[in-house]
Amino acid sequence: MEDRILVTSATLPEYDEYINEIKSIWDNHWLTNMGVKHKELESNLKDYLKVDRISLFANGHMALELLLQAMDIKGEVITTPYTFASTTHAIVRNGLTPVFCDIREDDYTIDVDRIESLITPETSAILPVHVYGNICDVEAIEDIAKRHNLKVIYDAAHTFGVEYKGRGIASYGDASMLSFHATKVYNTIEGGAVCFSNEMLGEKLYQLKNFGIKNEEVVNGIGANAKMNEFSAAMGICNLRHVDEQIELRKELTMVYREQLSDVPGIRMCNEQKDVKHNYAYMPIYVDPERYGHNRNELFEYLAGHNIHARKYFYPITSAFECYEGRFDPSLTPVASKTSHNILTIPIYPTLGVEAVTRISKHIAEFAVK
Ligand SMILES: *Cc1c(COP(=O)(O)O)cnc(C)c1O
Repeated sequence: MEDRILVTSATLPEYDEYINEIKSIWDNHWLTNMGVKHKELESNLKDYLKVDRISLFANGHMALELLLQAMDIKGEVITTPYTFASTTHAIVRNGLTPVFCDIREDDYTIDVDRIESLITPETSAILPVHVYGNICDVEAIEDIAKRHNLKVIYDAAHTFGVEYKGRGIASYGDASMLSFHATKVYNTIEGGAVCFSNEMLGEKLYQLKNFGIKNEEVVNGIGANAKMNEFSAAMGICNLRHVDEQIELRKELTMVYREQLSDVPGIRMCNEQKDVKHNYAYMPIYVDPERYGHNRNELFEYLAGHNIHARKYFYPITSAFECYEGRFDPSLTPVASKTSHNILTIPIYPTLGVEAVTRISKHIAEFAVK
């Protein structure tokens, strides 16, 4: 049997580096509630991400859920169903109605040409996703939002460190949510953040992640508990020192994939976007069953037979989830629906190595019907 390859592998600093980072916690006994490590990480990330303000959270999902609450979003939110469960759930859990917009065929981000036809008097915000690290058409979205007086909130869970025209991607829109989950390009074990520019929003987010507590005697918000603890922040401080190096390794592996898969009929990959500094977070391949000779599910099984574990990410689209049965109509977003049936996310992580990428590419190529 060939060696087992999983779709991703969580990044860790050297053991000693982390142990050294958490030593001071034994001196001050400050384990959570916006401690020393938390403050240091906030400051480091603000610089690295090139954003005005940042608020750290226990995870990306709670960051997004509480962000919608903090911004007092009402009614309908235009979003995409081609995403992780979190995006849609955060909208619904706030008592809001997601209105699903279809995606583009080339980079799977929201199709900006279809947004305006979905706007109603109830619409209050647009919540697009920078999916796989590909960025949305932020300029067109800003233009639409301005003309219709809508808020723009990005799910930027996939775009850690991505820049557009030299600007941090999380600085676009009214606010962006980032995820620092173990499986992402950059992790704090579990963790997340909201990047924003309005100072007032910072205060609200701070309260909502801490039970709505204003001060010792005043609780003026119906908050949750979503604070990042000191051990997570310490992991984040360590991982941030190495993230550029890791993105470089991801880039090298992506180039090898692109070269080795470029001639395989029926396999389509994403291209570099103009003026974008990418993070190479994922390696999605679109399998055209007519030209490839096999469908996505057959390729998934074939790779599994060679001990290569890819993921059907994203499948199904969120509007087709069992929990939303009868509530949304997945056929209204045909591109998203079709993509979810044909997409396969193949392994990529910094330590995967060129040899493994070559082996995976070889198996994908040999399974094509000549
Ligand atoms: C990972 C992810 C989230 C949620 O982040 P967590 O930190 O795991 O809570 C939200 N949206 C997208 C697109 C994601 O991939």
